[in-house]
Amino acid sequence: MISVAMCAVERQQFGINFAPDGQGGWCASTGVRIPTERQAQGYSPGSLSGGFSVGPEYRCPYCASDNFFQCGACGGLDCMGGAIQRNGGQWIWCAWCGSEGPIHGSIQNLQGFGDLG
Ligand SMILES: [Zn+2]
Ligand SMILES: [Zn+2]
Repeated sequence: MISVAMCAVERQQFGINFAPDGQGGWCASTGVRIPTERQAQGYSPGSLSGGFSVGPEYRCPYCASDNFFQCGACGGLDCMGGAIQRNGGQWIWCAWCGSEGPIHGSIQNLQGFGDLG
């Protein structure tokens, strides 16, 4: 399944390809650009649950960030390209809703994201 994420640097939507990791969880394998026309159509709802990890090949297709996070405020996925170091940890902001804060926790389930497949 592909989930829609936003590049925090370029503010462009892109898809994260999730593949089963063989242990009941999901591994982000690749990041792919989404054509503008496809973005305008909107996405059908989907959900994933289990553990989430990031594969060695995964990169944001816009800024090449090798990680992503889920916003605790709006639930949107963002690339980590906009993260900065603050107070000894990573400080992130969400390109979907503008929320910002320290990163914490891990993704348990993803909901409301489009399955492009
Ligand atoms: Zn990015
Ligand atoms: Zn957000």
